[in-house]
Amino acid sequence: MKCINIAGAGISGMTAGINLAKKGYKVTIYEQGNHAGGRFEADWQFLENWSTRQDALEFYKSINLSTDFFHKPIKEMELLLNGKKHHVKTKSILMYAVNRGRRSDSIDSALYQQARTLGVKFIFNSPKRFDEVDIYAAGPRRPDANILGYYYNADKTDKIIAVYDTKLSRRGYTYLTQFNGVGNLVITDARKACTKETLQVFEKSIYEKYGIKLKQKELFGSIANLFNAAHYYLNGRYYTGESAGLQDPIAGFGMRIAANSGYLCAKAIDENLDYDSLIKKQILKKIKGSVIYRRILFDLKLAKPLLAVFSLFGAGKLLENTDLLKYCMRIMYASKINNVLYPPFIIYSRIFKRDSYKRNVNINPERPMDYLKKN
Ligand SMILES: Cc1cc2nc3c(=O)[nH]c(=O)nc-3n(C[C@H](O)[C@H](O)[C@H](O)COP(=O)(O)OP(=O)(O)OC[C@H]3O[C@@H](n4cnc5c(N)ncnc54)[C@H](O)[C@@H]3O)c2cc1C
Repeated sequence: MKCINIAGAGISGMTAGINLAKKGYKVTIYEQGNHAGGRFEADWQFLENWSTRQDALEFYKSINLSTDFFHKPIKEMELLLNGKKHHVKTKSILMYAVNRGRRSDSIDSALYQQARTLGVKFIFNSPKRFDEVDIYAAGPRRPDANILGYYYNADKTDKIIAVYDTKLSRRGYTYLTQFNGVGNLVITDARKACTKETLQVFEKSIYEKYGIKLKQKELFGSIANLFNAAHYYLNGRYYTGESAGLQDPIAGFGMRIAANSGYLCAKAIDENLDYDSLIKKQILKKIKGSVIYRRILFDLKLAKPLLAVFSLFGAGKLLENTDLLKYCMRIMYASKINNVLYPPFIIYSRIFKRDSYKRNVNINPERPMDYLKKN
């Protein structure tokens, strides 16, 4: 029986492990933290449901993953655009709210149970270097974006508030999510480190606009790898998910991409296929779109005027009970035109050293927590 060692019990590592165990491999997953999804504690995240016609949960099932975790279909949310409130409602499911980390109903706990049932061995509190394993699935390896937030105790009202406000974040976005009495208030920024002071300004504006007061809050910090790497298979080793820079650079919706890369990695190993080609064929199109629109919105500074126009015409009313938002997102992420637009955008990024020019995954093995301690 062939043995496979994986670093990281997150989405991509466990997806690879589950699919390899199903094929009869003896899999061991080494995790730095003390639980599956060790990078997260009680984080609400969203499985996007716009980049393919196939429903996100159906996609999970199609790559042999359990969907036995809390998932709440989302069809409406609040938008706060530069201080103006909107309510957005879509006709079909825009995304699913899921939990990450330690909780028993989280996506990580469900994948952990599934993997255990298939005989995958987990070793916790056991960080591994990339050269000690066959698959490196350890999440972000360099801080392209910074994240700062609070976990807090919420009342029983479920709420999602997506906020775009240049005073809070210039090259990122901020949001509040609360379900089942657990809330997260989060700032992301790809240019500078988020600060506690900005978080306090955000908290105050959420209280003033929505009357939400955060109780028993606890600070957390994180980083994200937003930009694509040059290789996914290097020196006999497979890199999956964010450790290979496989992420959605515009909005950070990396869970589907991570799961898909874990699945393709298992397929490449089992069927002796070229992993780099599989990733390029099946995942890069989505990332290309995301890179292009990141440049358009942030470098050409179009995000602010576009959202101002959107806000002026009443964002909620424009989108209400239609799938317009989903169609726009699908065009952004999955249109064939991305293949044509991508090369000039990459040349531009390289010449002007913009943040999406390709990087080699081996460049900087700095670990997230070391970075956070220093900053
Ligand atoms: C605050 C925040 C909000 C987000 N919101 C969303 C969202 O709404 N929707 C979405 O789709 N995506 C979201 N993402 C992105 C998403 O979480 C990631 O893209 C996805 O989890 C990447 O999966 P992965 O398998 O690459 O890494 P992870 O799921 O992060 O797993 C990596 C695992 O490796 C472990 N590890 C780290 N170093 C080592 C080591 N040296 N040895 C062993 N183990 C190690 C970590 O503890 C972790 O458990 C968010 C990310 C953050 C930080």
